[in-house]
Amino acid sequence: MVLEILTYPDPRLRRKGVEVEAVTPELRQLAKDMLETMYDSNGIGLAAPQVGQSIRLVVIDTRSRDEEGRVDEGTMTELERGVPQPLVIFNPKILKAEGRTTYEEGCLSVPTFFEDVDRYDYVEVEFIDGSGAKAVLKTDGLLAVCVQHEMDHLDGKLFIDRLSTVKSSRIKKRIEKQGYPNPEEAREERARRKTERIKQEEPAG
Ligand SMILES: [Zn+2]
Repeated sequence: MVLEILTYPDPRLRRKGVEVEAVTPELRQLAKDMLETMYDSNGIGLAAPQVGQSIRLVVIDTRSRDEEGRVDEGTMTELERGVPQPLVIFNPKILKAEGRTTYEEGCLSVPTFFEDVDRYDYVEVEFIDGSGAKAVLKTDGLLAVCVQHEMDHLDGKLFIDRLSTVKSSRIKKRIEKQGYPNPEEAREERARRKTERIKQEEPAG
């Protein structure tokens, strides 16, 4: 079942998720519905608070696919390829974090906005998987970025909170006053900004 995804500034996104005691059939069903919801919105990760459930559960699938929907591992790092996906992650805890990386992030709860966010490059995360077993995940690349983004949701934190104060308040004010831009217009605007950036980088002739 596809669930409703809450968007900023919904106060439920700010609630801290609580740890689950056991992986019950109800929680397994919720994880399944969250995966369905994530795929339906073309997302790569979804946290339970985004669907109004204040628990420590995230689902992730960062594998890129070709036009026929086949998994394309070409853009994945060796560590990422070694992690079975989709991932169902209960009660995640970071055991180790190293290095820094910047990635242009977006969020299903802040649709149409994309900004560079600074995160750890490599993480080791301990968690309980969908079958209730203890597991450890060691990764870098997009998967590491995604895990950190989703874990933020469990603490009521959004990627727009991690930007500079100026950028963060500009985006929040814009959404609070005018709502979200039309997705089609936002896509065009983003493409235009990218082309302008490429033009600027071209050497002047
Ligand atoms: Zn998000």
